[in-house]
Amino acid sequence: MSFRVFLVWFLLGACLLAAGVVCYWQYVGNILEREVRVQVEVAGRDTAEDFNRAVSWDQQVVNTIAITVQSEYPWKDKPGLVKFLQLQTKYNHFKNLGVITLDGQIFSSQEKSLDPKWVQYILGNTLEKEIFLSDRQPDPEDGNSVLVAAAILHSQQEPIGALFAVLPLERYQTILELPIGSETGFAFVVDEKGDVEVSGQKLSFDNIFTALRNAQFTDLNRFRLFQQEVENGQVSFLRYNFENQRRFAYGYPLSMNRWYLVSVLPTAAVERQARMLTWVSLGLFIFIFFIFFLLAGYLLRLRAYNNQRLFTTAFVDTLTGADNLARMNQIFPDYLEEMPEGAALAIFDITKFKVINDLYGYERGNQVLQRVADIIRENLAEGETFCRSTADNFVLLLKCEERSKLRSRLNKIATQIRRDCTANDACLMVDSAFGVYEITEDIPFFIMLDRAHLALEYAKNQSGDKIQFYDEKYRRQIVSERRIENSMELALEQEAFSVFFQPKCDLKTGKIRGAEALVRWKDDERGLVRPDEFIPLFERNRFILRLDMFILERVVQRLAKWEQEGKKLVPVSVNFSRQHLNDSRYIPQITRVVDKYRLPHDLIEVELTENMILDNIKLAQNVVRGLHNKGFSVSMDDFGSGYSSLNVLKNLQFDSIKLDKEFLAGFNSNENAKQVIKGTVEMLKSLKMLVIAEGVETEEQVQFLRDIGCDVAQGYFYAKPLAEENFKGWLH
Ligand code: C2E
Ligand code: MG
Ligand code: MG
Repeated sequence: MSFRVFLVWFLLGACLLAAGVVCYWQYVGNILEREVRVQVEVAGRDTAEDFNRAVSWDQQVVNTIAITVQSEYPWKDKPGLVKFLQLQTKYNHFKNLGVITLDGQIFSSQEKSLDPKWVQYILGNTLEKEIFLSDRQPDPEDGNSVLVAAAILHSQQEPIGALFAVLPLERYQTILELPIGSETGFAFVVDEKGDVEVSGQKLSFDNIFTALRNAQFTDLNRFRLFQQEVENGQVSFLRYNFENQRRFAYGYPLSMNRWYLVSVLPTAAVERQARMLTWVSLGLFIFIFFIFFLLAGYLLRLRAYNNQRLFTTAFVDTLTGADNLARMNQIFPDYLEEMPEGAALAIFDITKFKVINDLYGYERGNQVLQRVADIIRENLAEGETFCRSTADNFVLLLKCEERSKLRSRLNKIATQIRRDCTANDACLMVDSAFGVYEITEDIPFFIMLDRAHLALEYAKNQSGDKIQFYDEKYRRQIVSERRIENSMELALEQEAFSVFFQPKCDLKTGKIRGAEALVRWKDDERGLVRPDEFIPLFERNRFILRLDMFILERVVQRLAKWEQEGKKLVPVSVNFSRQHLNDSRYIPQITRVVDKYRLPHDLIEVELTENMILDNIKLAQNVVRGLHNKGFSVSMDDFGSGYSSLNVLKNLQFDSIKLDKEFLAGFNSNENAKQVIKGTVEMLKSLKMLVIAEGVETEEQVQFLRDIGCDVAQGYFYAKPLAEENFKGWLH
């Protein structure tokens, strides 16, 4: 995966993570809010119950004291009553405890006169409600806020007054002081109008509804519902903003005066907790995310590295660093597409690379290959490519507008290689050959490669610059050669090869002196096939070794048969390929065949072409000598087509020399040709050799040859190569 793709994945992952965090944040926030809501609710309810309990306890105490006080009525011992009141005040931590009678008497633990309004207020409410708990009141004594709890006093079922206790607010504040849920939480008691009665803390407002309304409370409906619920004495919940703080408020009806306990908790506390939790999880998330991506990155790199290694193993030639053939095959179409002006596929081959390895070792061979790769690389133009296909074969895909330009480019490469790779101390030139297929057809890569290979085969056999462009005729030739190769074995088995005999005549007497055996292939499809069409191929695939022996045996067999028939025999020459020269079984084989039919050895003559002798004179010398030893005479065929010198001829001791057909080809038109023939014949005669002229076609030629002293002639003038039966007639 490329870095860019990885980055995209990373960013995608990061976005997902961010979205996840936001959701998670909200989720955690919700959970915590719910949690805190429950917490506030529970804490608020507990506080409310505590408050209820405390107030009703005080009320209870007031009631009990009232019962005691009314039982003593009429109070004879007034100082005793006051003392009692004082004692109870002390025990119960009242601010003041007193009795107000209907007839205007007042006894109080403080022994002070009371504000008449205050007296009226207490007495009026108590008589009306029998048990009375006041709202928050300023104590007329000192102005401090107090509550008044009072109970009606009876005597004989008739009200006589009220017992009241002044309760300092602090008494209840401590209950409300307990923080609700967290340190920032608080609680207070309001009446149904929202006025604050008791509060644990000092509040910045007196009326909760006014305060809420001032706090830009947006959800008016919710607020009204809350207000309604408070007024109706129902449990109620509200979330609101106050001084830029989000808050929860819970309301619980209390058991007295339609009072209401409100517990408040700013959500900031919750949010802080939630945020902390979220940050921690976010950190953890990011940590895991990075670990994951580091791991993923590492794995990707590992994979890329492995891919690279696999790629190198599969597609790169380790010795030269060039692509290999598999890779070339892969990228070939893309490169070709970018060469609209013409392209060619060239195969490069170092001629005699094996010899470099054998002579100088593999190390040197490898160096040569590396240098060759470098030189090719340096010579490539933009958009061209190459690969090393096998040991010393490189395949180049080159632009090719004109053959001549490409040829000079390849020549330049060859020259550079020859210059750079031939070691100073080495006598072996590093020469190269190119087979080129100019890409003109849309055919598969490997077929193009085959064609370039074919051209390379021809290039190797070329002299001069070994650069050969593929030609369609090569392919046709290959096809026909394959056909021949496929049928040659069967042809030999079924005796489709036959012998034709061409007589050789004495130029002086005109009588037959011998004959040459020439192979013919009777093919069902192609008719009678001439040797030129298959001998070169059989020489390459060495089938000629068997064919020549077959022809020899055929000849010997016929001669033996004709001898038995009482015919007068003439020596017959048989052509043998150069392939036999390297074969140590050659002479014994000939001998065995001839002996098999008990034919005198001097009836068989061996024809060896001039070219094959020149290839390896020493070897030829041994063979000629060996044949002579066995009593076979030896003739040099096609003399003059190569470059044999007098020296060669002298050392080889041929029995006869056959002048190449080409000598007579220019006979008619060219006076010089006659001089050449004359000179050659004279020279050969001076070496005491029998001279045979081949390809004699006219009376004029016969006359000329006779005049210059040539001994024997062979050619259409006397007879074409004849089938066995026809030749038998000739023997007469
Ligand atoms: P070659 O040995 O030089 O054979 C002479 C060729 O000249 C023969 O061709 C023959 O048909 C041809 N010829 C004869 N007289 C005339 C003439 O007056 N004018 C012209 N233009 N041509 C004439 P052919 O039979 O096609 O054989 C071609 C070559 O094939 C032979 O050349 C020989 O080198 C080779 N060859 C033939 N048979 C065998 C064989 O059994 N084994 C081997 N190894 N090579 C053979
Ligand atoms: Mg011949
Ligand atoms: Mg010949």
